[in-house]
Amino acid sequence: MKKIPGLELSVQNIFCIGRNYAEHAKELGNAVPAEPVVFLKPTSAICYDGEFIELPRQSNRVDHELEVVVAIGRKGKNIPAGEAHGYIAGLGIGIDVTARDLQEKAKETKMTWDLSKGFDTFAPISSFILPPSDPARLMNLKFDLNVNGVLRQQGTTADMLHSIPKIIEYLSQAFTLSPGDLIFTGTPKGVAPLKSGDQCVARLEDWTELRIQVR
Ligand code: MG
Repeated sequence: MKKIPGLELSVQNIFCIGRNYAEHAKELGNAVPAEPVVFLKPTSAICYDGEFIELPRQSNRVDHELEVVVAIGRKGKNIPAGEAHGYIAGLGIGIDVTARDLQEKAKETKMTWDLSKGFDTFAPISSFILPPSDPARLMNLKFDLNVNGVLRQQGTTADMLHSIPKIIEYLSQAFTLSPGDLIFTGTPKGVAPLKSGDQCVARLEDWTELRIQVR
């Protein structure tokens, strides 16, 4: 069982939202979708602060996608966006690590993204903190990623196409959400390749931090 650091929970499902920031959809040449793009990662992809992202031999281009990660703390189905805040156990920062070359091939052949998004260590997560008491604060979370001391990605949840409460509403219409489920909420612009030796520092506000190396 993979733990969620900072919370008394084990990781259950890992839901991910794609193309949730217009500028990022544009940089990869994708149309902005009307509904959230949903995919899942295996729990075996989870790794932690102080560990390593392992570059798989199957890929020649592995990108970072910096994302706010929501941990669910209460079971729910058909959760209205207005009540979503009460289902959040914690917030963290994570990287949706992506083998871009394999993903591009999958897009061309209309196959799934599971392999390109699901390798071991492709879901590093920070320690989680309790969500802010004011639900409106979810709409204005700032986060950034430095690689080797250089700013690579910087975002605010204010720029999301589908807000965190709306994502919870949407996912819970299809899936029963349960304590320990994680939601990777999409990446802002600035995705770029990682190489062996890179040192990544991802931060959510000044609340929590993920330090991870690449090899
Ligand atoms: Mg992503």
